[in-house]
Amino acid sequence: MPFADITGHEQSISLLQAILCNGRLAHAHLFYGEARIGKSMTAVRLAQALNCEQPSQTEVQDSCGRCRSCLQIAARTHPDYFVIEPDPNAATPQIKIEQVREIEQQLVYLPLVGERKICLIDDADRLTIGAANALLKTLEEPPGHSLFILVTSRLHALPITIRSRCQALRFTTPARTQVEAALILKQEIPPADARFLAVFTDGRIGEALTVNIAEVRARQQECLTLVKPERLTSSGTILSVAESLAKTDRGEETLAWLARWIRDLVIVMVDGDQDQILHLDQLADLRRYAQRANVDTLLTILNDIERTEQQATRHLNMQMALETTFLRLREALSLVPAGVSA
Ligand SMILES: [Zn+2]
Repeated sequence: MPFADITGHEQSISLLQAILCNGRLAHAHLFYGEARIGKSMTAVRLAQALNCEQPSQTEVQDSCGRCRSCLQIAARTHPDYFVIEPDPNAATPQIKIEQVREIEQQLVYLPLVGERKICLIDDADRLTIGAANALLKTLEEPPGHSLFILVTSRLHALPITIRSRCQALRFTTPARTQVEAALILKQEIPPADARFLAVFTDGRIGEALTVNIAEVRARQQECLTLVKPERLTSSGTILSVAESLAKTDRGEETLAWLARWIRDLVIVMVDGDQDQILHLDQLADLRRYAQRANVDTLLTILNDIERTEQQATRHLNMQMALETTFLRLREALSLVPAGVSA
């Protein structure tokens, strides 16, 4: 696939193409920006553009996406193209020194078919100290035919010594309308679902393309059920729901959904930008809640949920956190507890 297949990043891609056309490629480039917005995919397209057997005939250098070389790069079987990334199944995903050493041994040899041996290092911020030092030595004296493309969503976590040896290119999150359009085109989902996913993932196209919309919609419905007045007025229901969610390990996820719903409600209450509302199909209900809800209490709940999320990895009583959230939400929505006369 050519660069045009990528959602957003027009500026970064134009710059890369200008660099390609003018033969100004450095030995190491660093792509940084939010997670899952298309940085690695752009790196793959760059590798393809450099090796394509049938490059586009326009004035900008681009790949065809169909030739043997393009397909081999996509499948990671091209003899001059290597990918290093953390083991996603490891408890602490890291890039180990052995992985860097292995690539260094490959880079000693001249490219087999193309002009460059290309090494893509994804999540480069996950290099161990040993791996980073090994890589640094190579970056200090890179073989003339080598090209490193480092990708990171946590620039601050990448050693400055490595950063300073790369030509850095910043990637910004694509516009939400672009993500929506891409989802409609590539996933063939209805516009309402595409909009929902684009807001839900905050424009992270990589995530939006991989989540299952049916599953996300099912979770949304569960969340909407939880905030129904008849659920919140009964203290007994609150306690049993909190217990079952905590027991099935779904507390964190539920809190995240509640936070999304509360944010929407606050936007409605302060007459904010409707474009930012996730549950747009619930607007009528949100307006009804808004009439009797208390913004201050809602904002406090949001704050508390955020704090809980930060503590979630440490010892935390999730059941109690859920109970508290539901009880405070009941208060924020001015719902009278069942059995108490108003
Ligand atoms: Zn090609």
